[in-house]
Amino acid sequence: MKAIQLIAHGAPGQFKYSDAPDPVPAANEAVVAVRACGLNRLDLWLEEGRLPIPVQLPRIPGSEISGVVLSAGSDVSDFHKGDRVAVQSNLFCGHCEFCARGEESICLHGQLLGVQRDGGFAERVVVPAAALVRLPAQVAFAASAALTLAGSTAMHMLTRRASVRPGDWVLVMGGASGVGSAAIQIARELGARVVTTGSSEAKRQFALGLGASHAVDSSKPGWPADVREITGKRGVDLVVEHIGGEVLEQCFTCLARGGTIVTCGATAGREARLKLWSFFVKEQKLVGSYGRSRKDIEAILDWAAQGKIKPAATQVFPLARTADAFAALRGRQVMGKVLVEPDVVPA
Ligand SMILES: [Zn+2]
Repeated sequence: MKAIQLIAHGAPGQFKYSDAPDPVPAANEAVVAVRACGLNRLDLWLEEGRLPIPVQLPRIPGSEISGVVLSAGSDVSDFHKGDRVAVQSNLFCGHCEFCARGEESICLHGQLLGVQRDGGFAERVVVPAAALVRLPAQVAFAASAALTLAGSTAMHMLTRRASVRPGDWVLVMGGASGVGSAAIQIARELGARVVTTGSSEAKRQFALGLGASHAVDSSKPGWPADVREITGKRGVDLVVEHIGGEVLEQCFTCLARGGTIVTCGATAGREARLKLWSFFVKEQKLVGSYGRSRKDIEAILDWAAQGKIKPAATQVFPLARTADAFAALRGRQVMGKVLVEPDVVPA
């Protein structure tokens, strides 16, 4: 099969497009013919060697996979050749204390697909069958690959790690990002009033088009005051945060009494200071959120089938040009989603 391997870290890293051996499934695994694979910030961290976990090169990246089952091992009974599937990217053991409670996102033996084992920037990928999720007929492969990771991350944050009541004010950081654009739509569907942020006019307009009622300019140093103004000085009930560093600290300025910040990322910094006095006096919560469980993927794909959430517009690259896809995401000029599709003929 054709595949893209990362052979050296860097920005840009070094990729090799070549023939790799066809994967063979173990008893509990399935081989999936990749139809689309989404590109995420996680892939850039892998490329640049900035992940806080050991990575062995060469590695086929790609974690947000949709495709068709080609073959399955002898112990796999619930998936068959020809089934349309999405793949859960945070692989889990299925038998630790946390998996037993259905909390696969915090599995003790979790592995990242496309980081700790070969992923989906290839014609085929082999995965544990337990990581497969059935793709509803109404959801296209591209839509699945655009929603599975960021969409389920947002679903996990808004419905399992925090909650939204109708009428709540929700602040979604970075509304043009993958997690942000999904979070805006989920919060709206749950009845919230949504404020979002964007560093450019184009990004703010994009986020408003997804259903946010206000979009503040996050390139302005005093942007949290704008959020307070919009909510009549009250502050928001929930912040969906994924940027980290000082941005997380600023989010507390936007937060109402009794409010919650749920965070799933630290692109801008892995440390933040917390003003403890106002934190406990206002009975606020800071909640971590990591990945997703199959239930979150099933939920986001079900919502997509019902038309309750739409993937952001996509930019598609053929497999041979995966390195260009990485460059497009790194350039931060992308709105919506970058996908790689093995079927697309290189221009
Ligand atoms: Zn586990």
